[in-house]
Amino acid sequence: MFQNRRIDWAKNQQNQDEGVYLCSRCGTPLFSSAQKFDSKTGFPSFWGHLEQNVQQHLLDTYGRERIQLLCHQCGLHLGHLFQDERTPTHVRYCINADSIRLQKEA
Ligand SMILES: [Zn+2]
Repeated sequence: MFQNRRIDWAKNQQNQDEGVYLCSRCGTPLFSSAQKFDSKTGFPSFWGHLEQNVQQHLLDTYGRERIQLLCHQCGLHLGHLFQDERTPTHVRYCINADSIRLQKEA
């Protein structure tokens, strides 16, 4: 089952628009399409973020630690950070589609 979910990185890079993903509220650049991948979760997923614009906030809810991702500029909730062995960084940024918008490269 795990084999089926393996990520074909070369194919991933071909099938997407290139550009920068901005905070949908304040327009701060948050993610690059170069670090976006199809995680098969239904959520836009990245394995890294741009500069220091994504803030990580450790949540301890119900005794379970989760890392919440926020826009550093306006505090908009972006999603959560998970461990994911499949990515080059071994983490996955699981992002709400509503919280980002793509600015395509000209
Ligand atoms: Zn923002």
